[in-house]
Amino acid sequence: ARLANQIAAGEVVERPASVIKELIENSLDAGATKITIEVEKGGIKKLRISDNGKGIVKDELTLALSRHATSKIKDLKDLEGIASLGFRGEALASISSVSRLTLTSKPKEQDTAWQASAEGRDMKVSVQPAAHPDGTTIEVNDLFFNTPARRKFLRTEKTEFNHIDEIIRRIALARFDVAFTLSHNGKMVRQYRIARDKTYYDKRVGLVCGQRFLEHAIKVDCQHGDLHLWGWLGKPSFVRNQNDLCYSYVNGRMMRDKLINHAIRQAYADLLPLEGYPAFVLFLTLDHREVDVNVHPAKHEVRFHQGRYVHDFIYSVCQRALQEQTE
Ligand code: ADP
Ligand code: MG
Repeated sequence: ARLANQIAAGEVVERPASVIKELIENSLDAGATKITIEVEKGGIKKLRISDNGKGIVKDELTLALSRHATSKIKDLKDLEGIASLGFRGEALASISSVSRLTLTSKPKEQDTAWQASAEGRDMKVSVQPAAHPDGTTIEVNDLFFNTPARRKFLRTEKTEFNHIDEIIRRIALARFDVAFTLSHNGKMVRQYRIARDKTYYDKRVGLVCGQRFLEHAIKVDCQHGDLHLWGWLGKPSFVRNQNDLCYSYVNGRMMRDKLINHAIRQAYADLLPLEGYPAFVLFLTLDHREVDVNVHPAKHEVRFHQGRYVHDFIYSVCQRALQEQTE
């Protein structure tokens, strides 16, 4: 069982940041409104994610650590129009097979918390009582301790931490309604409080993308039929020499999609010769049936059924906003 899980781990678990991403997505799926991420030595030594979500009942702890044990798909039809972020049912089992993982959880309706971990070649799960508030904590120690080849690919503590920070920034922009804190080696490095309504969104964008971006951003908000695009577009004067502030989301999922990026770039390039990268935080929403989200296993790319139409919509909204700005 461990080997099969390790093979699966190759697909989802590349580095500490990818572990964090999977775990945060689980917390969000569980309805958490507060997620605490603690990391030691770039996440290579330890990562711990705590949430105040709905928890896992004692009887399901073992299942949660087994492969294909997703509680999120009851029927293949669910695969269309998937609302939850994770649905392959292998993240926990995979991560557990390449680390020392413990899962502690307490659903509100359960009096005590229970802790589970899987060990040995057969990945036998043992469960014991524990102390924990409502919600779930997953602790991952010594990532890749048993897969030296994989561990060799890890970079310095600082680089691995930067990847984690970036993942959390991307997620923090997707979920203004959730509080996130991140600490590294015992020191708090990020704190994003809940933005209860849109008036607080600017604050989070400023924290995540920098105050300078916020000061040089144009707000966009445009609806056309089923398509809705809103967010912040950096002014042409705020062009960057890196693509480090390119945040786009489709139906709440973070994406690095060629079509979207192309449409945005084109809007800038039509106004002035673009030397570098535009900065933006943009949210596109459209009918779930109009997109396939599972094109790429890391789920960063989508396929739009009407690509041209979506492209032109994004292009024209951005172009109009930029034009008004420079007039
Ligand atoms: P998936 O997310 O694809 O269902 P995972 O391996 O990531 O698969 O998680 C397995 C199961 O464990 C989930 O379906 C869910 O029921 C449960 N689970 C994992 N993390 C949490 C969490 N933080 N809170 C509540 N339930 C969780
Ligand atoms: Mg998951």
